[in-house]
This record gives sequence, structure tokens and C-alpha cells, in this order.
Amino acid sequence: MDENTGRESVDVVQGGTRCVGCGYAIDGLPEDGVCPECGIEVERSLKGELMLKASPEYLAMLHRGSVLTLTALLLQLLNVFASAFFGMAFGMMGYGPVVSLLLVFAFVQFGLGGLFLLGWWMLSTPLPSLKDAPQANRARVWVRWLLVASAVLLGVRAGLMLVLSMGGVWLDPISMAMLVLVLVAWLAGYVTQMLYLAWLARRVPDTSMRKRALLLAWLGPVVFIVGAPLLFLGPLVAVVMYWNLLDRFRQAFKRIRRERLRQDKAAKG
Ligand SMILES: [Zn+2]
Repeated sequence: MDENTGRESVDVVQGGTRCVGCGYAIDGLPEDGVCPECGIEVERSLKGELMLKASPEYLAMLHRGSVLTLTALLLQLLNVFASAFFGMAFGMMGYGPVVSLLLVFAFVQFGLGGLFLLGWWMLSTPLPSLKDAPQANRARVWVRWLLVASAVLLGVRAGLMLVLSMGGVWLDPISMAMLVLVLVAWLAGYVTQMLYLAWLARRVPDTSMRKRALLLAWLGPVVFIVGAPLLFLGPLVAVVMYWNLLDRFRQAFKRIRRERLRQDKAAKG
């Protein structure tokens, strides 16, 4: 806030203020107006709807969601490695592919995929004070729609896998087409997740986390695809970058929850 000019124009927003709903620069707008982009009252942006002021339930939900997402992702990675290891080991011992074992790994992966989606569902809980303005954060709504789409695809693929394993070879083309759909849902889901995390970073608030999320929104897919032919190094690097960013959010949620608890105690005592 500029102390020198503030007196003459108290009714106009200044100081580089951004809308709490959508991040639109609202400088110059009347303080009793609404954001032209998402319709949220300017007054709410002036108070700043930071995470520290959000309800403990909301904070707990985000924190648990991030823990679940990270855990599921790590276990999925381990499962992929274990499946590749056992596949190679059996190959070296002269066995053909052990279908039943590969099926077990595949179904563990489906289960972990479900947990991952559940974690993200928790992570994309609406900020209670913005519940009445779903247009305030379109990325969050898209994250959830794509989670639903991914869950449906996951279920259909698991079913297909089961039928294929019982000898329904005629389903192979459908299975391949499903894989393409899954990749599209993944990519779209990933990008919207990054945009949502960039929005969330503003509530933390943390500029470097916001910049990282916006960077990864395009860098992640590029590294994933370009590096895919290099022994799958690209996808691995992309997953590690994704994991690191989510972990920074987990730490931030934990820190904010602790700070919030401390404040509440101080207020009571
Ligand atoms: Zn707005």
C-alpha cells in the first residue's frame, strides 16, 4: 500500500492486489465492486483468503490428501520396478512370462491408482469461503472432472485386463484404444493439476511454489515425452519433479496446520 497516495483514493484498490478467486489484477477497481473475471467481491480479496485463515477441517483435508497422493505415487513407482525386476528375473531363469504374477502386479497398480485419485480428490477440496463461486477457480473444477474420467477409465481397463487374461484376445484393439484415452486424460489431468497448484500456492502464500507449478505445467510433459526413448529416464525425471512439488505442498500444509493450532491455542489461553 502506498502511504502517500492512499488518503485521496481510499475507495480504489491499489498496491498490486490480486483477486483471491482467480488472480486477476484488481488494482484501480472500486473497493465495493466485484472482480470482472470471476465475480467475487473485491472486499474479500482485500482481506486476503489465505490458508492460515481457512477452517482446520479444510487444512486437514488438503494435508491428508497430499500425504495419500504422495504415498500412492511412491508405491506405484516401486510396484513398476518390482514388476520389471521379476519379469527380467524369470526371463533369465528361462521361464516365459508368468502371467499370473504379472496380473498381480497389474492389479496392485490399479488399486494404487485408485488411492492416488482419491488423494487428489481430497487435495482438490474447494476452499470453503469460495464454495459459492465455483467459477473462481476453474482449474480445480477441471481437476475433479478429470479425476472422475480417470477413475472410470481405470475401472474399465481393470475389467478389460481381467477379460484379456481369460483369453479374450479379440479385445486387444479396444485395450490399445483405451490406453490412448488414458494418456490423454493423464496429460490433461496433469496440466490442470499444475494450474490448480499454482492457484493454491497463492493461498499458502508462496511465490516460488507458484512459479514451479507453472513451469512444470509445460516442462513436465516435455521432459516426459522427449526423455521417454532414453530408457524411460524422461518419465522418471518428470515423476520425480512432480513428486517434489507435491511434497513441498505437503510440507506447507503441515506447517500451516501447526501454525493454525498454535494461534488457536494462544487465542484460547
Ligand atoms: Zn476474480
